[in-house]
Amino acid sequence: MKRIILHVPLILIALAACQAAPQGLTVTQSGAAMSSNHSQNPYYSRTDTTKLDLPDEVWKKVLSPELYAVARKGETERAFTGKYWNYEGLGTYYCAACGNALFRSDAKFASTCGWPSFFETVRSGSVEYREDNSYGMMRTEVLCGRCDAHLGHVFDDGPPPTGKRFCMNSISLDFEPNSK
Ligand SMILES: [Zn+2]
Repeated sequence: MKRIILHVPLILIALAACQAAPQGLTVTQSGAAMSSNHSQNPYYSRTDTTKLDLPDEVWKKVLSPELYAVARKGETERAFTGKYWNYEGLGTYYCAACGNALFRSDAKFASTCGWPSFFETVRSGSVEYREDNSYGMMRTEVLCGRCDAHLGHVFDDGPPPTGKRFCMNSISLDFEPNSK
């Protein structure tokens, strides 16, 4: 019995290699597609940067169930299932819950972890950070700077120039291609 208990943290660390959630909810491709439809979400804006502080019931009403689970309940989509993990389009990624600009494609890099990964944000206030000690791991959670939506985690094993790896859930992101 004792031996089993001792091995549990090791298993958790192995699962944490990127952003794994041992009890992660399955977020489907269709769920990611649904997040692009903001007709039900009057708070979504790509120009308004005013902080949003809305009660949970409101978010539940205006977000798709899949996005709500990740953005407001901190769930993690399964690796290699999101729409952006290996996407190479040129443009900007916005928060799927509120429209806040988060990352540009030129800061995205090919990561083998199965989630879209970036080495820097659009601007310093784009995101906020919170210590996350869930699942027995010490990680830094990344939240939207405007609406506090859970986006993913940041790690210190990214490429130069920052050395950071923002490991994000695809469903928490909306991509807008550069205008020609
Ligand atoms: Zn947001």
